[in-house]
This record gives sequence, structure tokens and C-alpha cells, in this order.
Amino acid sequence: MKTIGLIGGMSWESTQLYYQQLNEGIKEHLGGLHSAKVILYSVDFAEIEHYQMNNQWDLAAQCLADAGMRLKLAGADFIVLCTNTMHKVATQIEHQSKLPLLHIADATGERIVRAGLKKVGLLGTAFTMEQSFYKDRLIEKFNLDIFTPSAEDREIVHNIIYNELCLGKINQQSKKEYQRIMTSLVEQGAEGIILGCTEITLLVNEKDINVKVFDTTAIHAQKAVEVSLSV
Ligand code: GLU
Repeated sequence: MKTIGLIGGMSWESTQLYYQQLNEGIKEHLGGLHSAKVILYSVDFAEIEHYQMNNQWDLAAQCLADAGMRLKLAGADFIVLCTNTMHKVATQIEHQSKLPLLHIADATGERIVRAGLKKVGLLGTAFTMEQSFYKDRLIEKFNLDIFTPSAEDREIVHNIIYNELCLGKINQQSKKEYQRIMTSLVEQGAEGIILGCTEITLLVNEKDINVKVFDTTAIHAQKAVEVSLSV
């Protein structure tokens, strides 16, 4: 079994889901007392969020690449970065740590293609919904059509992530807002919805909308289990 190097803490509310799902996945495959071999480097999210808000992506990249190098020294075989947003600096982490990084958009894109869908709505932070690092990868590598909410709704989605979900707050009114926004994406033609932020699964799931939902946290963790068990 390969050792999974997690870069987590962004936020820890979702990193704990990764830890649980990795262990459940290994147990499901191997049975008995088997569990995942995991090394976790958990950052202080306030530092990372400060760099994000001040457009200091190089400093954020340096911090996460440093975590990656430490995971390599500790014996990790590959990296799982437990956030969609920070995949903006995935290349720097991979390059500096000299470890392969299991890209969350690739795991998600593969799953969408396998489900036979092409048009998908994307919810996530403003960085993920608006910048090219995530959307273009899905468009170019997987030939998908990506739908994002209106500017006003993107702001609502983003603020709920940072002001509530990353702080462990689950609000029923926010759930209704997410349902309304997902419904409007479906009305525009989306055949599925990507929960493109690792905390969104704390708020909504496939019961909240009548199309297929792609939970990036679960998909990424399942892919990591697969890679960990591969020879
Ligand atoms: N966990 C989130 C994501 O998947 C947002 C927090 C962050 O900015 O890393 O994008």
C-alpha cells in the first residue's frame, strides 16, 4: 500500500472528511483491520486565506510546497491537496516536492465523463469559479461545458464557504440558497453539479437537486484509495 501525503487544513472541516473517507475506502477494499497509510500536514488556514485575499499566490504556493517537501521527507508516495482552490498552485507543489500530486479536477473530470455527462454546473470559491486553473482543465482535458452562477450568486456561494462552512457552521437558509443556485444552473442546461469546494458536501448533497452531484471531496478520496492500492 502506498502512503498518502495529505496537505490539509483548508479548512480542517473538510480535511477530517478526507481522513475518514480514506480509511473507510481502504477498509472497504481490504477488509478487517486494514486502514489507510496517511501522513497529514495541516496548515493554518488563516495564513493561506490572507495570501488568497491579497493576491499573494506565490507566498501561498511556497507555504504549500514546503508542506509537500516535508511530506516527501516523511515518506509519502504521493500528494493529495485537500482543497479545490489551492490547485491553482498545484504545479509549484509538485515541482518542488518532487512527489506526484493527484489532481482533484482530473479525478472529478474522469468521473463526469464516466457518468456520460458533458454539461456541468460548478460551485466553489470565486477563485475556482472565475479563474482558469480549474475550469480550463475540465474543458480542455475532459471536453466538458462548464456553467457557473451569475456574479451575484457566485458571491453568495463564495461567502457561504468562507463565512460559514470553513467555520463549521451549517445554516438552513444557506442550504436553500445553494439549492436555488443549483436549480438555476440546471435550468440553464447543466446535467450535473460539481461541488467544487471540499466543504460544500457539508451543506448539500444529491438529495437537494434532481441531477447528478459530483462531490469532489469523496471523488478525490476514492481516487487516492485507488492509487494507494495500485502497484
Ligand atoms: N476547501 C475549499 C476548496 O475546496 C476552499 C478553501 C480554500 O480556499 O482552500 O476550494
